[in-house]
Amino acid sequence: MTDLSAPRPLPELPLHGLAACPECDLLMHKPVLALGEQAQCPRCDYELFTHRPQVLGRSLALVLAALLLYIPANFLPILRLNLLGNSTRDTMWGGVLSLYNSGMQSVALVVFLCSMAIPLLKLLCQLLVLLSIRWRVGRTYGLLLYRIYHHLRDWGMLEVYLLGILVAIVKLMDIADLSLGIGLGCFIGLIVVQIWLEVSMSPQQIWLALSEEDGYAGD
Ligand SMILES: [Zn+2]
Repeated sequence: MTDLSAPRPLPELPLHGLAACPECDLLMHKPVLALGEQAQCPRCDYELFTHRPQVLGRSLALVLAALLLYIPANFLPILRLNLLGNSTRDTMWGGVLSLYNSGMQSVALVVFLCSMAIPLLKLLCQLLVLLSIRWRVGRTYGLLLYRIYHHLRDWGMLEVYLLGILVAIVKLMDIADLSLGIGLGCFIGLIVVQIWLEVSMSPQQIWLALSEEDGYAGD
């Protein structure tokens, strides 16, 4: 009779080429995908891998577009407010300064980090990672920057601030004369481009390109 309590050697599994589903931890062999194909987790349907065409060119174009939108989104007026004869123009940067000057320094710091500094750092990390792949230089730094980008992803909260701006607009509409500024259009454009970039910049293709010594084979 077999003693079930006795320790048994683990079966030898080939570790190379295994992938774990980030949602349900199912361990499986990495599929080999053709251009445009997707691989989903067989247990929870999470999209594991996608082989997207022209990842590098599209992502570079989107990063540059986002960087161009970043400055007007933060420094041009989001709202023009006319209340009892007083007219003000509010920008994202002006909001941070107002919070700081009214004694809420810690809130101003959080707003500055989450709405301005971290989104900019994320974009710069993405740009440098893509340039290191395109020019085939500094892959070690590229890997480090891509890791930093993944840590920063959870801290950039532009969507939350857009929601806050929209709530403020709805509440102020009844008590003041409001007009929307060009900064709001750029801010919405920045969020749309960033979401598009997240979808286009297939992580497994970027990791693969960064770890390859002989060049980019993603497209
Ligand atoms: Zn899964």
